[in-house]
Amino acid sequence: MGLGGGIGHTMGIASINPVTGATLQTFEPLSPAGLEDKLEQAWQAFHNYRHTSLAQRATWLNQAAGLLEADKQVWAQLITLEMGKTLASAVAEVEKSAVVCRYYATHGPEFLAPAAGPADLLPDGRVALTHTRYDPLGPVLAVMPWNFPFWQVFRFAAPVLMVGNVGLLKHASNVPQCALGIAEILQKAGFPEGVFQTLLIEGARVPDLLADPRIVAATLTGSEPAGISLATAAGRHLKKVVLELGGSDPFIVLESADLEAAIATAVTARLISNGQSCIAAKRFIVAEAIADAFEAGFLARFQRLRLGDPCDPATEVGPLATASIRAELHEQVQTVIRQGAACRCGGELPPGPGYFYPPTLITQIPPGTIADSDEFFGPVALMFRVASLDEAIAKANASPFGLGASAWTRDPAEQARLVQDLEAGAVFINGMTRSDPRFPFGGIKRSGYGRELGRPGIYEFVNIKSTWVNPSP
Ligand code: NAP
Repeated sequence: MGLGGGIGHTMGIASINPVTGATLQTFEPLSPAGLEDKLEQAWQAFHNYRHTSLAQRATWLNQAAGLLEADKQVWAQLITLEMGKTLASAVAEVEKSAVVCRYYATHGPEFLAPAAGPADLLPDGRVALTHTRYDPLGPVLAVMPWNFPFWQVFRFAAPVLMVGNVGLLKHASNVPQCALGIAEILQKAGFPEGVFQTLLIEGARVPDLLADPRIVAATLTGSEPAGISLATAAGRHLKKVVLELGGSDPFIVLESADLEAAIATAVTARLISNGQSCIAAKRFIVAEAIADAFEAGFLARFQRLRLGDPCDPATEVGPLATASIRAELHEQVQTVIRQGAACRCGGELPPGPGYFYPPTLITQIPPGTIADSDEFFGPVALMFRVASLDEAIAKANASPFGLGASAWTRDPAEQARLVQDLEAGAVFINGMTRSDPRFPFGGIKRSGYGRELGRPGIYEFVNIKSTWVNPSP
């Protein structure tokens, strides 16, 4: 580990303050020998850890929740420092990370209890007993993004550790202090040495890791290219993966909607994590009859938003996380405008240091632009007008992604149609799409496959073992 002092370089593993662009600390990536040592530790740890009781694991998870809550201000400041979300939203993220630990500590034992199957009557009149068991698999690799540096990791770690697997975290290269902090919390909570480790390595080294027999499965939350790279390597080595990739979630507002609530929620939904959330609302699909009113209300709120230092409580939108995220977003905005769309506010790079980008509203988007195909990862809202419910659903589904969807209408028939026909892993009616430990979370189409959270989330990395026992042959 060494100290850096440069400005704005984004190479390597480093904490760079997105408010100023200053490099705060750089980290030496793990050497091949250091990596080998961690893999071996994980493998050895698994053989003991798999025999710990569910009650013991639940105790450790509850202790992790307590530690997160006790030090939430400290961890929130670190999140804000490394990736720029507002301090209030970082505190909420740490609190939610505690909730997911408690959720699996509480419900894990029930989800993982062996389930009795039908008794199997044998020809000699005796009965074989059948069960479904949920056994751990081994070390699971998690490749994680920076946009929710704590939440994304804890929603992986809580179910995986509850099952009896061990975790290896390859976090995004711009949040190394969060990555190290999380491993520290879990160790302090009582999880034995080697049960959860952070690997400080670059993304390019991940595919080779899948070849290692000590890694039994992997999960990745991130971009499509990273997902393809991981899934390709995993396929080559026949290992299971869960992928949580991008999204371009629709936010549909129909004529009977509570317009004020829809507008206020639309603005909030677009700006989660300074606009850098996979399930942020990105495409606003609005019925023609109310579109002028929606646009005016949305624009008024978007223009009033206060952009600034994420540690200032008055700030509503902080900077984007990295220079390259901002450059890519700005390029997308310029492209869609070149393709014929109108920019109602924002769209200009602000002067000064840091990676700030203004809330931007794009309207009058002609068919066939990148707004139909790309994910805009930042505070940019894309608005479309539609003439009917059918057209709204068709527009929402005309996307390569299928992560979340939110729709606003008071009409029960429309609500039923939307729930049934929207192609997404989650549909919220008259509410904002969000992740919640209680509900399964994941996508279809190019948003990935597999599920996290809820009951299904705990079964992704287990050996669902059928047992058949003739007790007295
Ligand atoms: P990214 O570049 O894909 O980074 C995500 C993680 O993948 C990082 O740890 C990164 O490591 C690693 N990585 C990069 N290239 C890799 C490769 N070739 N093989 C294996 N791993 C690799 O993602 P991002 O652009 O920073 O994050 C934003 C994306 O994540 C968006 O598309 C967003 O929608 C998606 N996301 C999805 C969800 C969800 O639940 N569906 C949640 C949050 C974010 P390095 O940092 O070292 O490159």
